[in-house]
Amino acid sequence: MKSVTDLGDLRGQRVLVRCDLNVPLDGDTITDDGRIRASLPTINQLREAGAKVIVLAHLGRPKGKVNSEFSLAPAARRLSELLDAEVTLADDVVGDSARATVEALADGQVAMLENVRFEPGEESKDDGERSELADKYAALGDAFVSDGFGVVHRKQASVYDLASKLPSAAGGLVEAEVEVLQKLTGDAARPYVVVLGGAKVSDKLNVIANLIRTADTLVIGGGMVFTFLAAQGHEVGKSLLESDQIDAVKGYLDEAASGGKQIILPTDIVVAPEFAADAPATVVRADEMPKDQLGLDIGPESAERFAAVIEKAHTVFWNGPMGVAEMEAFAKGTRAVAEALTKVDGLSVVGGGDSAAAVRDLGFADDDFGHISTGGGASLEYLEGKDLPGLSVLAD
Ligand code: ADP
Ligand code: MG
Repeated sequence: MKSVTDLGDLRGQRVLVRCDLNVPLDGDTITDDGRIRASLPTINQLREAGAKVIVLAHLGRPKGKVNSEFSLAPAARRLSELLDAEVTLADDVVGDSARATVEALADGQVAMLENVRFEPGEESKDDGERSELADKYAALGDAFVSDGFGVVHRKQASVYDLASKLPSAAGGLVEAEVEVLQKLTGDAARPYVVVLGGAKVSDKLNVIANLIRTADTLVIGGGMVFTFLAAQGHEVGKSLLESDQIDAVKGYLDEAASGGKQIILPTDIVVAPEFAADAPATVVRADEMPKDQLGLDIGPESAERFAAVIEKAHTVFWNGPMGVAEMEAFAKGTRAVAEALTKVDGLSVVGGGDSAAAVRDLGFADDDFGHISTGGGASLEYLEGKDLPGLSVLAD
């Protein structure tokens, strides 16, 4: 991939930079600005090179319609604070306001266009529609820098199509993320442990088939656990369950066993009668879950066992909280796993929006880990060996 420095002298050039500023919001308050902070080095590099910087980004899922609820205004404000410089936000994505905003930029200044997902072409499955929108983006710039790692697995106008319309390069964040992921797919130091949890069960189950081959040990927590327990014939009560995946999961368990790989499942579970922060929680054996309750965290015995396995590894990739970490009563498993990752003698990587937010929320610092990835889906697809459109389009 080309780097920003390969784009030549950028003084006075209009540089479009795709960032991932899709931060969690509570009203218009940003609850974790990690992704905005991660975008700073590339934006500053472009400013120092004398470029006119135009940030392209999305927030949430406005699905091709203008919706002020998904305005990038909070992200533009926070970016401005962090850069200690003005960031003008256009009122539209590729309209009069966008053109005027870009026109007004001086060398080294930063502007942001509105949420690219306000445009129906951004996420369109139709190549022509996406290309047409990408032409409008391209008219606003002289070069393109792709730095939104969290979206490089998406074939979208501002990620994929735009890159073939202008001289393009990967930003430093994308380069850094890819460098770490290469270490996880190449010859990773062993033992190599992958920890999976979270709620997007069906997405993540697909990854397992591949990870069983690369990693030595798979540790399973979070909402995914119950499909595994069900596959072993156990009762899972009202827990999250993907019943149509049970057969696939049986296959993974067989494949791991015959390949000499370990899949470690929790032996105890924290259950409650309902999904609520103040629900009365109890610990039960994983193979004796009550019918009328649901599993919301791994139990203390499992947390200890998971931690012991993780601490001994030399490479760890973790995606997905071990329980409903947003609720104090169900955050203990996630805390134990995070703690164990900080003790790894080797490379420890945390990937995924909710996982990153959870470790920060639990009071861990970013540099307690080898790397906190800004992309969950993108990291997993990379580890799966899939072609990521936003990366391959940048190949020279
Ligand atoms: P990431 O964003 O890190 O990739 P996911 O989006 O897959 O992770 O999952 C995060 C969500 O999973 C959290 O909101 C958490 O509350 C939820 N979760 C974890 N364990 C459970 C569980 N046992 N039941 C229901 N939800 C769970
Ligand atoms: Mg998530």
